[in-house]
Amino acid sequence: MRVTFLGTGSAMPTGERFQTGILLSDEDRRLLVDCGSGVLHRLQQAGVGYENVSTVLLTHHHLDHVADLLPLLKARWLAGEERLEVVGPEGTKSLLDDLLAVHDYLRDRVDLQVREVGAHEFEVAGFDVEGYETRHSMPCLAYRFGDRFTFSGDSEAFEGLANFADGCAVLAHDCSFPDGVDVSNHPTPAKLGEALSGADVGRVYLTHLYPHTDGNHEEMVDSIGERYDGDVRFAEDLLSVDI
Ligand SMILES: [Zn+2]
Ligand SMILES: [Zn+2]
Repeated sequence: MRVTFLGTGSAMPTGERFQTGILLSDEDRRLLVDCGSGVLHRLQQAGVGYENVSTVLLTHHHLDHVADLLPLLKARWLAGEERLEVVGPEGTKSLLDDLLAVHDYLRDRVDLQVREVGAHEFEVAGFDVEGYETRHSMPCLAYRFGDRFTFSGDSEAFEGLANFADGCAVLAHDCSFPDGVDVSNHPTPAKLGEALSGADVGRVYLTHLYPHTDGNHEEMVDSIGERYDGDVRFAEDLLSVDI
């Protein structure tokens, strides 16, 4: 399985990181997890393209995770692709209904399948996935793909989520802000290190990075390292990891 970070930024632009999007792929399967602003461009830059992604799995409905959904639908329609499947937590159906009510001319242009999932096991685009409820300002699901990959979505760091990822080869975790920023609904490095202490994860990639993190990468990794001695790195847009 290959994991490609398409967008490692957040709701506030850094100039280098687009909003959230992660592509999972192997020989014949492709799944886009989240579809924030800029992800459609990154798909092209990654050499995959919107024509080859027909399924999107959403962690939650904040704009920085869904902004490119209709642009993806429109691009696929214009390219003659006939379908798009959107899978996400409760409310995903009404989200798509509401978006298409605003952009009415996009209705029925492709065969749009929408499916709602929760904190349980399911299959999407040929991948076996398990969902887990995170701690965020709206309902959000973390997703685990077997023993290979877990994505936290947006979440505070807490032991339950670390346990959910335990035993995984790669964990991509929200680490929105450096220490010293007073924040809820997202972790700081100190909180993340505390939650991860005792977890057995092959490698952790930090993502969902606000501009506040610029220039603070080293101290953020050091801060996590005070409680957690595993391999911790920063994700970058267009970084691919083979797992
Ligand atoms: Zn969010
Ligand atoms: Zn977000």
